[in-house]
Amino acid sequence: MKLTADGERAVRVSVLLPLPFPTPLDYLAPEGRVSPGDLVSVPLGRRQETGCVWDTQSDVPADFAPAPAREVALARLKPILGQLDLPPIPADLRRFIDWLAAYTLTPPGLVLAMAIRARHTQPTRVQLGWIRGEADLAGLRLTEARQRVLDAIGDVPLSTAALTEKTGVSPAVLRGLASAGVLKEAPLVVAPLFAPPDAGFHPPHLSEEQREAADHLSEGVKAHRFGVTLLEGVTGSGKTEVYFEAVAACLAAGRQCLVLLPEIALSTQWTDRFARRFGVQPALWHSELGGKKRRETWHAIAQGQAAVVVGARSALFLPFPDLGLIIVDEEHESAFKQEEGVTYHGRDMAIVRARLSDVPAILVSATPSLETLTNVENGRYQHVTLHSRHGNATLPDVRLVDMRRAPPERGQFLSPELVAAISATFERQEQAMLFLNRRGYAPLTLCRSCGHRMECPNCSAWLVEHRARQMLTCHHCGHHEALPETCPSCDAEASLVAIGPGIERVHEEARLHFPDARILVMASDTLGSPSATAEAVRRISDREIDLVIGTQIVAKGWHFPDLTLVGVVDADLGLGGGDLRAAERTVQLLHQVSGRAGRADKPGAVLLQSYLGDHPVMKALVSNDYQAFMEQESAQRKPGFWPPYGRLAALIVSADSAEAADRLAAKLGARAPELPGTQVLGPAPAPLAILRGRHRRRLLLRTRRNVAVQPILRQWLEGVKLSSHERIDIDIDPISF
Ligand code: ADP
Ligand code: ZN
Repeated sequence: MKLTADGERAVRVSVLLPLPFPTPLDYLAPEGRVSPGDLVSVPLGRRQETGCVWDTQSDVPADFAPAPAREVALARLKPILGQLDLPPIPADLRRFIDWLAAYTLTPPGLVLAMAIRARHTQPTRVQLGWIRGEADLAGLRLTEARQRVLDAIGDVPLSTAALTEKTGVSPAVLRGLASAGVLKEAPLVVAPLFAPPDAGFHPPHLSEEQREAADHLSEGVKAHRFGVTLLEGVTGSGKTEVYFEAVAACLAAGRQCLVLLPEIALSTQWTDRFARRFGVQPALWHSELGGKKRRETWHAIAQGQAAVVVGARSALFLPFPDLGLIIVDEEHESAFKQEEGVTYHGRDMAIVRARLSDVPAILVSATPSLETLTNVENGRYQHVTLHSRHGNATLPDVRLVDMRRAPPERGQFLSPELVAAISATFERQEQAMLFLNRRGYAPLTLCRSCGHRMECPNCSAWLVEHRARQMLTCHHCGHHEALPETCPSCDAEASLVAIGPGIERVHEEARLHFPDARILVMASDTLGSPSATAEAVRRISDREIDLVIGTQIVAKGWHFPDLTLVGVVDADLGLGGGDLRAAERTVQLLHQVSGRAGRADKPGAVLLQSYLGDHPVMKALVSNDYQAFMEQESAQRKPGFWPPYGRLAALIVSADSAEAADRLAAKLGARAPELPGTQVLGPAPAPLAILRGRHRRRLLLRTRRNVAVQPILRQWLEGVKLSSHERIDIDIDPISF
């Protein structure tokens, strides 16, 4: 036992710091003063750090839990410096942090850092206001000014400014009343921004099919137990309307609801719809949220004021005190995977979070991932389906334009058939959209005389021409340079030519075909900000635009009633490369793009330009038979135990030279585990063999489903020493390779 300066008993507490230590550190705290979850300030060397009082990790499965730390003698521990005036990190979030850290082989402190990053938790100065104090009025000299204050004051704190304005008294009067104990200070309720959504504000009239689905989901919410349901439905079937009813059920139960969207910063149409249904805007959480807003939002959530949060995957780390439901919209989207820093899949971790908080999760998609479909098939997830589009809308007619048969002219990318279809759309006074998932003018610039390709000096990637900015740009590291006038390799003049299309080039071509059309280009680099996107969406909705040309931004869940034609400029684009999920992803993306056509009472059409007309992806899109396609996918992956029938983990080895990277990769390869049901593929060049000047190699661990990869990886890497320029990044369940 040890005593503190005040003679209190001091006890050992574990504190997790937002730093890359393998375990929490022990400190001393006065007995009974701090509890797990409290945020405290502790000494660390000469610094002061904010950490979280931590407790044991009973939820982490033994097969990937890290080894416990050795215990330091009580006498050597330092006392904590103080407790921060911040809401605690709830137990379910602490369990989630431990779980995710163990699963991804990340030091738990780095996961905690995502939950308490300094800018969320800097104690915001609490704003104080006035409420009625305990003191008796007897004996108080009641002037007229004082009486006015007493009439105005209630249980809800009012700021000095509000109160003086309301009553016309001076602040001195308030101070006088305070010293008499008739008024007292209380924290102002922050954030009228987070006004409670009203579950009954504007309920929709659901179709019978929608009603059944909504009831099913709402029952799950009311049960308040973990369970996963897939809400599957064709584009435009009203999935959002339906899961809003589950949100309403969660609100009615007085609990908080988290909705994850893959690209939240662009989701103005979603938040507007939410506001129409529930009367207020939801709380938003994403990386572009500014400092003050971010702090306010964090606090409003931690205090249970923000009832519905719509966010990017990072919203999983918010300290909801009373979570009741998690929804993952567009669950198949690869944007849910975080590829840098702590690598995790937002959809998968949403399910873990729901399980640890014992609340239901709803996965939503028109084209569910094979992972999710497999879980439905083996009975782990429930399944509700919406079969038809809402109202009179029918699914678009998808047709293939066989580019082998009728190719466009040299240097052009729109087939005569597509051009004719766009003209016909304009004649009907309707809108059209061209989709090409490639920013810039051209993906490759080549010397006609020597064949030299313009490549990034830091990455193994071509430089993309952005003609509007007169630049060649690397989309991986951001390197940019002016387009040279002569070939840097052979000095030939005016020999550099643009190869292949980007959306700027498609725009140029479209202007030639349709000089009078009002065209809007939408790409993440031309409209990064939510307000720019909102303005673009408004212009399309208000019919100020005839033709939209865009990258995958345009595929998102937009709803434009007069848009009836979608042209996919290069349907084959995603199919190159050796990626396991290339076909699945292409079908999902193109299906979603197609879903933009004919969403209201006018029928829609989709034209897919492809040189691979016989490819299963094209067949699936034309026949609109997603299920058959996924059955084929499944049959291809099963025998080799590829995900979801087996597990994968990638080790990305990188160093500052090719030789060093090869050496390290070979060293790891030589000590690769040899275990039943386990295979190591590689070393091989990583998908981007050079990235930002670092040379990258990859080893892929593939196991049967019932094998845990974490202990294997831990053992594999145990004792491997790295020099300062060498790195090993672990990616559990990599999605692109
Ligand atoms: P999904 O998410 O399945 O693509 P949405 O939820 O976006 O479908 O619905 C498509 C369109 O139909 C939206 O404009 C939506 O407001 C409308 N809609 C769907 N169901 C209803 C309904 N029951 N009542 C009124 N409008 C609906
Ligand atoms: Zn680069």
